[in-house]
Amino acid sequence: MAESTKLDMLAIAAHPDDIEITCGGLMIKMVKQGRATGALDLTQGEMGTLGDENDRAAEADRAAKVMGLSFRQNLKLPDSAIEYNQENKLKIAAVIRATQPELVILPHWEQRHPDHVACSKLGYDACFLAGLKKIDIEGEPFRPRKIIYVSYYRNTDYSFMVDVSDEYEQKIEAVMAYHSQFGNPVTTKHVFQPGFDIVNLMKTRMRAIGHLVVVEYAEAYTIKENILINDPQKMPVQSV
Ligand SMILES: [Zn+2]
Repeated sequence: MAESTKLDMLAIAAHPDDIEITCGGLMIKMVKQGRATGALDLTQGEMGTLGDENDRAAEADRAAKVMGLSFRQNLKLPDSAIEYNQENKLKIAAVIRATQPELVILPHWEQRHPDHVACSKLGYDACFLAGLKKIDIEGEPFRPRKIIYVSYYRNTDYSFMVDVSDEYEQKIEAVMAYHSQFGNPVTTKHVFQPGFDIVNLMKTRMRAIGHLVVVEYAEAYTIKENILINDPQKMPVQSV
């Protein structure tokens, strides 16, 4: 997909399929609203038990089409060995400059997989560095205005929820595009983590999160700053 395109929103994740599983609903929702939405995968997922990097790349393309993304790039960093260093920060910062997203989605900073933790820290630093005038990165200085964090359903320090009831089916279709990972119910049932069926996990968690805000399915996000509300009388979700 396009190497350089102006985006409204860019999701950055460690492995192909992370974005679909965690924030796929929001991505689809933004696309439906006409926003230019893109994905940056840091690795090709080549350390996964099932499928190789060619399978995963073709699947990532298919998933991008299902979600309607206008941009997807893979930095081809080593899977399960993403290092938190300046070189990697600058590689991500160059993509931020090339795509100029106002909103960036990063993995939550507390994660089981070390690549997800590294991605969260690298992504934040890259957003900062991309705005420095004197730094040696191709392109014009640019800093995203907003960073939101999404978890692999493990964290509970949520700041807000997004109603993705209308995007649920399309999100599942995007995840299922990763046929090597999730396509065979016998061999791939537990690929995500021993004992977990990914679709069941997504469905259960999205319903539980949706229940908290009285919608059918929702995704939960965390931010580090506060939320400014102009009119508390109009805030959604009833208190009693
Ligand atoms: Zn991952």
